[in-house]
Amino acid sequence: MIYLDAAGTTPVRREVLEAMWPYLTGDFGNPSSHHELGERAHNALEAARAGVAGVLGCRPAEVTFTSGGTEADNLAVKGIALARRAADPRCTRIAVSAIEHPAVLESARSLARLHGFSVEVVPVDHAGRVTPEALAAVIGPETAVVSVMYANNEVGTIQPIAELAAVARAAKVPFHTDAVQAAGVLPLDVRALGVDALSISGHKLGAPKGVGALYVAGRVSIEPLVDGGGQERGLRSGTENVAGAVALETALRLADGERPTAAPRLAELRRAFVERVLELVPDAMPTGDPESRLPGSASFCFPRVSGESVLLELERRGIVCSSGSACAAGSSDPSHVLLALGLDPETAQTAVRFTLPVTITAEELETAALALAESYAAVTGIARR
Ligand code: PLP
Repeated sequence: MIYLDAAGTTPVRREVLEAMWPYLTGDFGNPSSHHELGERAHNALEAARAGVAGVLGCRPAEVTFTSGGTEADNLAVKGIALARRAADPRCTRIAVSAIEHPAVLESARSLARLHGFSVEVVPVDHAGRVTPEALAAVIGPETAVVSVMYANNEVGTIQPIAELAAVARAAKVPFHTDAVQAAGVLPLDVRALGVDALSISGHKLGAPKGVGALYVAGRVSIEPLVDGGGQERGLRSGTENVAGAVALETALRLADGERPTAAPRLAELRRAFVERVLELVPDAMPTGDPESRLPGSASFCFPRVSGESVLLELERRGIVCSSGSACAAGSSDPSHVLLALGLDPETAQTAVRFTLPVTITAEELETAALALAESYAAVTGIARR
């Protein structure tokens, strides 16, 4: 099998498993307990927090561990919006880009449905870019929070986050970015980015599923969504996932350390793969920004064929990839991301996304490109019959 769905998830790295193992076995204590076992767990949790803060360039107290990217996004969007409105009742608007992950989009919709906020959607251009002008056009003194993702999971486009955050700062609106796909391959320094909140998820980086983190700048007020024993400085109650936090920190630190060599290598492999695909399947239509994109992301539409049929043919040939977001897999609705890029609904149904794990080789990608050409021929042959 050649796995080309790294944006869907990644396997747990051996170093990560080894780092978390003690906290699942001998050092299994509850970090809130006062005995020695508890203290050891507490120390591990705080060391993990400090490690994550080191990569993000923030204070450890600004890092909250969550159950993943979805919870981090929910906490940022809902928690900041509710706190802002509590402080200033005029803050009743939320601004999100049109291509956000459902974790952000549905959080905004939930605020509209349950709390009377209105949601403003910031449009993107044909490459999936949010421009500072487009953002400036929708935000104002009534905007409670803005959320624009760092890099898109379906088409790979990277947003000019520092410029967008500057627009929000000028309007005095807190700016959140979903960095789930960016973590490990793009710089995450929150001060350089100028963001007020940033979400990451472990399982895209070689840590297990079910752990993530949210950075929230100390200056920003935020309401908790989960109430209880007051863990995570009251922002996220519940006994902490110590082994998960250790895993996330280990995976993030390793990936960020390898980034200077891994990211250019992936980008070069991706470039050669896209070129090869276009040579073998001239009908293939790359989507997203050709330049400002995730190093390991190659996404295409194949006009007039169903993306799902291409995927099935690819899988029969041992190539695993996806049509877009894993969350939307199996859905017959065209992707909201591709529609926002201006594709018609029929073309949007033809998407196939290849997201390269850091371990991928040029030989594997050559095999995948040949398999894609065969799969496309098989599907168009079937379609013609
Ligand atoms: N945000 C983006 C951009 C994602 O790609 C994903 C996962 O696919 C998430 C959020 C959700 O993260 P998690 O699976 O950890 O809940």
